[in-house]
Amino acid sequence: MRPDHLLSVARRKLGRPTAVTRAWECIPFDGPTIGVCLTLADDAESFPNREDVLIDKREEDEEKARFERETGKCHRCGGDGQDWAGWNHGTGHRWRPCKRCGASGAAPVRP
Ligand SMILES: [Zn+2]
Repeated sequence: MRPDHLLSVARRKLGRPTAVTRAWECIPFDGPTIGVCLTLADDAESFPNREDVLIDKREEDEEKARFERETGKCHRCGGDGQDWAGWNHGTGHRWRPCKRCGASGAAPVRP
C-alpha cells in the first residue's frame, strides 16, 4: 500500500487530523511539478468544510524522510513490499514488488 504522504502533510498544516482529500492539483499545471494544491474536507460523502492547502515538493520529501525515520518502513510501499502498478476497470488494482526496498518493506539504509 502506498502511504498518502501529501495528505499527512496537509492534515498537519491545517490541524485537521481526520480530513480527507477532495481534490488535488499539481503546481504548475503544465511543466515540472514544484508543489501540489490539496483540497481537504471533513468526510468523503458530501465533502463539507473544504479548505485548500499548498504543499511544496520539499515538504513532501521531508514527510517521506520523517515517515522512514519514525516507522523504519519504506516510504514508497508503506512497509508491505507491494507497489501500486495501475488500475483497470476489469481487473482492479495491480501491484508489483516494490523496487525501492527490494520488496522487504524496510526503509533502505543510506550511508
Ligand atoms: Zn518499499
